[in-house]
Amino acid sequence: MFSRQFNVPNANNKQPLQADRIPDTCPVCHCAVMPVETGCDYWNGNTAEAIFRCPRVTCSKFFVARFNIMNGVALLQQCVPMTPRSTAFAKLIQDVSPTFVKIYGQAEAAESQTLNEIAGVGYRRALEFLIKDYLIAHYEDEKSQQEIRGLFLGRCIEKYVKNDSLKLVAKRAVWLGNDETHYVRLWEGKDIKDLKNVIALTVSWIEMELRTLELQRDMPEAK
Ligand SMILES: [Zn+2]
Repeated sequence: MFSRQFNVPNANNKQPLQADRIPDTCPVCHCAVMPVETGCDYWNGNTAEAIFRCPRVTCSKFFVARFNIMNGVALLQQCVPMTPRSTAFAKLIQDVSPTFVKIYGQAEAAESQTLNEIAGVGYRRALEFLIKDYLIAHYEDEKSQQEIRGLFLGRCIEKYVKNDSLKLVAKRAVWLGNDETHYVRLWEGKDIKDLKNVIALTVSWIEMELRTLELQRDMPEAK
């Protein structure tokens, strides 16, 4: 907690306001930084804004930190503009489900603009493509592939995922993902971060399984 001076309407001098923190990451280059204070700020009622600049020479971009005032304290809410940051997935994952990578990137772009309701639905949709594309690549017979395409994701995992650890994490990813799309939220206290964490775990297990299969194909028998 520290005190910061803000310009306020109809006042000659800046007024001190307690703030919980200043930004510690540049929203443009996403590096951890101690941003440069420009002294350009404004406090009006329940909101305040301050302009900072990224100190990195290669970035040097200005950005606005937005605060909400609660009980006399300025709580940092967001920094804008936020450059979408997209997760880099392993080539194996990109190959097995390019649609997952595409939708996940779009969900991240929505989230970076604080469109969390849409981002959550996007992550859930990305998850469906990841698991179904992975299973369709795994089961080569047409009948299984048809069923995988049509089944609800939860039932699809139950029936077709054989790796117990993958099954455990994928089911939980679906539970949290469904909360992003359904009217009633069942997992109170869990949010989009938890969903992303469990999707990341699902990606890791799929990747491990694909790498193991690759090794098995490369070295099928003892010599
Ligand atoms: Zn920067």
